[in-house]
Amino acid sequence: MPEMPDVAAFRKYFETYALKRKIASAGVRNPKIVRGLTAKELEKELAGDRFLSSRQHGKYLFAELDSGRWLLMHFGMTGFLDAFDSPGSEPEYTRLSIAFEDGGFLAYVNARMLGWIGITGDPEEFIKSRDLGPSALDPSLDFESFKKRLPARGEIKPALMNQRIIAGIGNIYSDEILFHAGVHPKTKVGSISEERLRVVFEKMKEVLQTAIDLDADPARFPENHLLRGRRKGATCPVCGTRLETAKFSGRTAYFCPRCQQVS
Ligand SMILES: [Zn+2]
Repeated sequence: MPEMPDVAAFRKYFETYALKRKIASAGVRNPKIVRGLTAKELEKELAGDRFLSSRQHGKYLFAELDSGRWLLMHFGMTGFLDAFDSPGSEPEYTRLSIAFEDGGFLAYVNARMLGWIGITGDPEEFIKSRDLGPSALDPSLDFESFKKRLPARGEIKPALMNQRIIAGIGNIYSDEILFHAGVHPKTKVGSISEERLRVVFEKMKEVLQTAIDLDADPARFPENHLLRGRRKGATCPVCGTRLETAKFSGRTAYFCPRCQQVS
C-alpha cells in the first residue's frame, strides 16, 4: 500500500512524465474515483492546462496547474501512476487518463478504487481541513513535537499510523520503524521510556529517508530490513527468529518477538 516513500517515488515519476507538458485532454474512466466535483468538471479543469510543480504531504500528492488550482491524488491501497504511449496501451484499471499535446499519456491506475482524486485551490487549506498531522519527514517535526503529538494512551503502532498525529506512515513502514527501534508494536505509548521513544523518532526519520532514497523498492533495501521479506513464515533478518504477526484494525503487523520487546 502506498505510504510516504511510495508516494515520493510517484512524485518523482510524475515530475519526469507530466511536468510542463500541455494537457490535450483528460478522461475519467470511473467517476467514483473523483471527489468534491464531477468527473466532467475535473476533465475540464485539466484540459488545455499544464502542471507547473508538485508537492507531497504524507500520502497525498498535489500537482499545481497553471490555473493556480491543484490536482490532488490519494493512492489508497493499490494506486500508482503509469505513463504509456498510445490509447491502445492504456493500463488496466486506469481511472484517470491524461493525454499530452506532444504525445504520450499518464494514467492514474487504481484497481481497488480505495484512493481518490480531486481538485483543491490550496493544499495548505486541504491539509487543515483533513486535520492531517505534519509529514513524518518535515524538518519542523522534532523529537519534542513528536512526543507531544503522541497520545498518552493506546499502543505505539496505531499511533504512528494515525494520519492526524503524523502524516505518511502506514502498516508497512510502522512495522519497519518499530523493528529498527526494538519496540513491540503493542507497546503502550505511555510505558515507553523517553530514551526509547527518542530511538523510535530517530528510526522513523532514518527508515523513511532510506526508503525514499531507494525509491521505495524493497529489493534495494539493506539486508537488515523487514520489508525485504515480510511474509508468513519468514525469519528475522537480524536474529533468525521466526517473525510473528498481530492484527491492528484488520491490518497484519509483522514483528520479531526476540528483537522487539514490550517495555
Ligand atoms: Zn530478531
